Amino acid sequence: MVGIVVVSHSRRLAEGVAELAIQMTQGKVNLAIAAGIDDPENPIGTDAIAVMAALEEVCDEQGAVVLMDLGSALLSTEMALELLDDEMRDKIALIAAPIVEGTMAASVAAAAGLPIEAVIAEARSALDVKREHLGEMSDDENHASQPHMDASSLQNALDFTWHVQNPHGIHARPAAAIVGQLATFNCDMWLEKGEQRVSAKSLNNIAKLGVRCGDSVCFYASGSDAQAAVNAFAQLANDHFGEADAVRLGVQEEAEDVQESMQELVEAHGISGAIAGLSVNGGIVSAPAVLFAQEMPAIPVREFEAESAEITRIQQAIELVKLHLSAQAKLPHGDIFQAHLMMLSDPEWWQAIVEGIKQGAIAEQAWMDTVNTLATDYRNADSVYMREREADVFDIARQVMIQMTGEKPAAVEISQPSILLARDLMPSDVAGLDKNKVLAICLSEGGKTSHSAILARAMGIPAIVKVQGCLDQVKPGQVITVDGFSGLLWFAPSAEVEAELEQKRSEWLEAQQVAQQSAQQQAITCDGTEIQVLANIGGPEDVSFALQNGAEGVGLFRTEFLFQTSDELPSEDEQYTVYRDIANAFGDKPLTIRSLDVGGDKPLAAYPMPEEENPFLGLRGVRLCLQHEELFVTQIRAVLRAHQEQSNIQLMIPMIAMVEEVRRVKALIAREAKVLGIQSLDLPVGIMIEVPAAVLNADALAQEVDFFSIGTNDLTQYVMAADRGNTAVAELVNYFEPAVIRAIEITCIAGNKAGIPVSMCGEMAGDTKATDLLLQLGLRKFSASASVLPALKEQVRTVDLSVQA
Ligand code: PEP
Ligand code: MG
Repeated sequence: MVGIVVVSHSRRLAEGVAELAIQMTQGKVNLAIAAGIDDPENPIGTDAIAVMAALEEVCDEQGAVVLMDLGSALLSTEMALELLDDEMRDKIALIAAPIVEGTMAASVAAAAGLPIEAVIAEARSALDVKREHLGEMSDDENHASQPHMDASSLQNALDFTWHVQNPHGIHARPAAAIVGQLATFNCDMWLEKGEQRVSAKSLNNIAKLGVRCGDSVCFYASGSDAQAAVNAFAQLANDHFGEADAVRLGVQEEAEDVQESMQELVEAHGISGAIAGLSVNGGIVSAPAVLFAQEMPAIPVREFEAESAEITRIQQAIELVKLHLSAQAKLPHGDIFQAHLMMLSDPEWWQAIVEGIKQGAIAEQAWMDTVNTLATDYRNADSVYMREREADVFDIARQVMIQMTGEKPAAVEISQPSILLARDLMPSDVAGLDKNKVLAICLSEGGKTSHSAILARAMGIPAIVKVQGCLDQVKPGQVITVDGFSGLLWFAPSAEVEAELEQKRSEWLEAQQVAQQSAQQQAITCDGTEIQVLANIGGPEDVSFALQNGAEGVGLFRTEFLFQTSDELPSEDEQYTVYRDIANAFGDKPLTIRSLDVGGDKPLAAYPMPEEENPFLGLRGVRLCLQHEELFVTQIRAVLRAHQEQSNIQLMIPMIAMVEEVRRVKALIAREAKVLGIQSLDLPVGIMIEVPAAVLNADALAQEVDFFSIGTNDLTQYVMAADRGNTAVAELVNYFEPAVIRAIEITCIAGNKAGIPVSMCGEMAGDTKATDLLLQLGLRKFSASASVLPALKEQVRTVDLSVQA
């Protein structure tokens, strides 16, 4: 990366400039400052030796550029150049650009990996945006800055139009994201707003377009890798150029107004038979209505027991709910439940509950008082997003109350395909919905960013919220229509409207079919390399969704859910039936069953283990299985029996660190196969690579097993020594860190050398931003959440492995 040096008379000025550049490039810039002099009495000045040291710090093969403030800064820099050797001096450019704007433009271009010529050009034109804004650019200058785009390149260019929703338009940070994302493409690229068209490789030019929220822009690309560039731009646009959160919140605030105007529209046009709400997820569905109500269990009327008994009662209820939440946290979109888990572990909550009990409240009362106080805080919060967290508080509250009162939770029971109507739904209600029965959701309350809305979207269920009065207007069993695109609930549409809705519905279904069809096709890179794309599943309920999304098998079946969802361990027969049936559903596509990966952070209610001080470094996965053979052997036998009937089954062992562990596992498998009378044992046995020791010893392990699967979730936490659930070190838990990438590379090399397949089943496998890199590292098999498979396949199709990255 091209280095940047800021030379200034004032250290504080240079530090401020550096701070801005680091923020603008999200820490990716290679920048050093040489500013002020080492004299406390008179610190203003510049020092050639300091400039030389700064240059030596940041200048590598790609060179460095220097931005200077006034007079002697230039002289000191020139003197520093004299002191450097010729080779380095030739790679350094001094730029006459304004120090703040120039440093920002140069930093963004350098962080995007652009060559030094482009970095210099960016810095030199750094003032253009401001000049243009203030009307200081002449027509000639304006014309000169328009990129050349002749008729033939325009004709051949691929394009992508986007309606910008970023609250502040495409300002510096989104523009930097665009330049960074497009830096590696060789084709010509332009961004157009109205009549103006600029190079999409230049931060300044993009900023010059002055794109505001609500504007439409068109991205053009022409050249050999144009399709990949368009895809990359589209992907970034869909992420709102790195500002998805800001957009979500902005849109949410705006949505309230939209709803009002929608309702006004409905009324003004005398449209009867519809109620306006907010759109959460698109889709048009007509079906009978099912009304559902979920109540908070009432606080029982009972005597206060001893203080310690009340505390134990609430403690036990909380622990049980936590156990349930940790199981849910491992499911797709489990981060919502991870957040609930953290809320429930909040020491301040606990203090308030204990306080309540000490003042004489029974456990249920103390709990609800605490919860209500927190819910009130959320309800009165300024931001809509925070206000919608109230529903999360009540979701947790209800689960704890159910545990304490023993009341049976109301379950959403739907016998035929229907539209579910409710006041609100808790995330845990939505997570348990059967998508084949619940065709759409309509809530009289709720919000666009509530967790139940997020889940509905993630599950692909058309949904609308804040449809006020819907529960009064609609009778159970009445056929209604949810228009998830415009946020309308139709309970009595006219014949004309009905025909329009039908037309919209068939267009929607057709579009869905097209997406699904391409998901069913293989993922082949531009140069013809076939890539296997498999699904991660947690149980039988995930099978049909995985197949619909084009899964070419299962790369990871997290069997712990079988063990965590019940108070009793699943028997050998129960396990055998589940394994056999899932394998059968996949036909000849592989089913990779991961042996039990509990212990440490994933406790088992049915098999309590002593707490550990460092659970992540403790008795987890295969370590626990080898020490508690009875657990392991039951599972091994179930897998072996299922494999007798379904040859597409393979077994994968988690948390392997040593060859010795693999040998012990294989010996147990051989022993049990013998007991079961299996003559020729041909169950493929692979291991997860998720412990650094396994990476460093991958060559030896590859000799022992049939396949590797890289578990980046754990591999990242162990390589970076950063707990994957601890938000305080979240920045370290980043699989793009060079050390993690290197670990992946070592594993791929070892697997390929030994001729065994290497796949990846950690979250990174489903991150389309990582796909290109992983393919370049030699990975040919990906296993991810079913919902991301269509996008993952599309991403693979854009990569050309014949072109060296
Ligand atoms: C992993 O560690 O990457 C992995 C897939 O396993 P889990 O997330 O279940 O620990
Ligand atoms: Mg793991």
